[in-house]
Amino acid sequence: MKPFSYARAESPDAAVAEHTEGSAYLGGGTNLVDLMRLGVALPNRLVDVTRLPCDRVEDDGGGGGLLIGAAVRNSDLAAHPAVRERFPMLARAVLSGASGQIRNMATVGGNLLQQTRCSYFQDVTRACNRRERGAGCSAREGDHHNLAIYGHTSECIATHPSDMAVALAALDATVLVHGRGEFSLDELYGDDPAENSALRPGDLITHVRIPPSPRMTGTYKKVRERASFAFALVSIAAALDVRNGVVQDSRIALGGVAAKPWRARRAERELQGKSATRSDFARVAEAELEDAQPLRDNGYKIALVRGLIVRTLEELS
Ligand SMILES: Cc1cc2nc3c(=O)[nH]c(=O)nc-3n(C[C@H](O)[C@H](O)[C@H](O)COP(=O)(O)OP(=O)(O)OC[C@H]3O[C@@H](n4cnc5c(N)ncnc54)[C@H](O)[C@@H]3O)c2cc1C
Ligand code: SF4
Repeated sequence: MKPFSYARAESPDAAVAEHTEGSAYLGGGTNLVDLMRLGVALPNRLVDVTRLPCDRVEDDGGGGGLLIGAAVRNSDLAAHPAVRERFPMLARAVLSGASGQIRNMATVGGNLLQQTRCSYFQDVTRACNRRERGAGCSAREGDHHNLAIYGHTSECIATHPSDMAVALAALDATVLVHGRGEFSLDELYGDDPAENSALRPGDLITHVRIPPSPRMTGTYKKVRERASFAFALVSIAAALDVRNGVVQDSRIALGGVAAKPWRARRAERELQGKSATRSDFARVAEAELEDAQPLRDNGYKIALVRGLIVRTLEELS
């Protein structure tokens, strides 16, 4: 491992001041330290942000929204009574990820900015545009069975691994970046899959804000290669408001299909005013799939997305 220095920051201002060129913020270290061991991440300095005063889940205004500190551990987030009661979809998403031990260490900020699990990204002997712009993408002609079907480019076809981010996207959450303002999940990740996020070096996430939710039943479902300890092949965070058999409102985000949580806006638009029936849900799924661009070996994700949308909406209606 490359030698590095270490500093622990007690405030967001101090963290940003400690972050010099080549530094990385250290959350729980469950992703970053693995990447350092593999020689993929080579920071010369770690700025520990786990002691920042951003370690609480608080009410945000009076309407039922929440302000979640970036240093809150994943286990604490999933167990928090306000999260379980108001946003069970988020608790489910977090609990579907990693293991109990990892969730005890992992932070909200680190979970959002964890790196893709594309196997070539983690192998420094293989070409990868995410590690080195212009080097090429080994996955395009190699093993990409678990990679993107939406929003990919000739440069990169990676997927984002976070379950939490998918639920947050469906909940219209925003991410507070110290001194820079508030970003939607879409803005946080940007449109270039070869970049892990649209943030600049030194940008520090301090909180995540979840606005008050309209009264909707919501859930999170994840399809993976084995029952636990595996990243999503496809996942869905969905919420539905059905009255008298007619859909009034919906939120749908997909995971495991793009380099960011994929907000299924087309499906949401199509659902408005439709009857809550299997045949209408199937039509809505087809509409969302019109934008999909499956690769040589991941066409099976089309059927997974279709099935997951229909089954989840049926369950919620
Ligand atoms: C075996 C295994 C299985 C897993 N399975 C899943 C899964 O199924 N679903 C899932 O969602 N996750 C899964 N994870 C990922 C795990 O949840 C992440 O490793 C974790 O959330 C990262 O959090 P961390 O605090 O340890 O981040 P770190 O490893 O400390 O940091 C990750 C990145 O975020 C940056 N960072 C950290 N905090 C901040 C901040 N406040 N502001 C700006 N940048 C910051 C770091 O510099 C680094 O680049 C798995 C991990 C492992 C090891
Ligand atoms: S898909 Fe992206 S992360 Fe994977 S090898 Fe290609 S450029 Fe690298």
